[in-house]
Amino acid sequence: MALRPYVVGNWKMNGLRASLAEARAIDRVAARYPQVDVGVAPPYTLVLALAEQAEHSAVGGQDCHAQAKGAFTGDVAAPMLADAGAGFVILGHSERRALHGESDALVQAKSTAALAAGLGVILCVGETEAERDAGEAIKVVAGQLKGSLVEGAAAAAKLAVAYEPVWAIGTGRVPSVEDVAAMHAAIRAELLAFYGDAGAAVRILYGGSVNAGNAVELLSVPEVGGALVGGASLTAESFGAIIHAA
Ligand code: PGA
Repeated sequence: MALRPYVVGNWKMNGLRASLAEARAIDRVAARYPQVDVGVAPPYTLVLALAEQAEHSAVGGQDCHAQAKGAFTGDVAAPMLADAGAGFVILGHSERRALHGESDALVQAKSTAALAAGLGVILCVGETEAERDAGEAIKVVAGQLKGSLVEGAAAAAKLAVAYEPVWAIGTGRVPSVEDVAAMHAAIRAELLAFYGDAGAAVRILYGGSVNAGNAVELLSVPEVGGALVGGASLTAESFGAIIHAA
């Protein structure tokens, strides 16, 4: 099955109002590639403004709380993201797992909340360098999936999985094409085992040091259905080149 390519920018903790112009430029690039689904996940402060100006790209959050509302100072709930115009949310990013102690179970609870709010979910998984060196990469990722996937075909229909080796994020290092292919095949097998046929339609993105120079090669690996892009998503020039590659 040929799935629509999905290219998502994760701005992380970058972006001021001045960045709205860059987002408009990204939206104009997205307009030129209607066959590609394009998303941008800015910091919370810019979600509403980006959503109001985006016509050809989706806007997303980088995290959400597992509860729909309540006394959780500093947190943002999935219905708030949806209300601000977000269409998706990135969950389980390795920076949240590492810096905020997020477990698979918490990521699963957040996914359930996001789906209840009508948001698409980009579920991030990936091994550390030590885990890869120990030959455990596929086992680790399979465990993350088993621990955080939400059951049901409706959940599968709103899900994308992003494979992001922790050691490749922001480092300029990327795994070999063979390693990406093996991991994406393993993720597909997990999705099919968990969801049955519905698992075939879940897009599996690669993330970690994707840039204009390596995007064509990475995106042509079997089962790589798109990219989750950090640093290179901050300008329309570099992100546009990745959209073009897709
Ligand atoms: P990077 O980040 O493209 O800057 O490596 C990717 C990510 O963390 O999603």
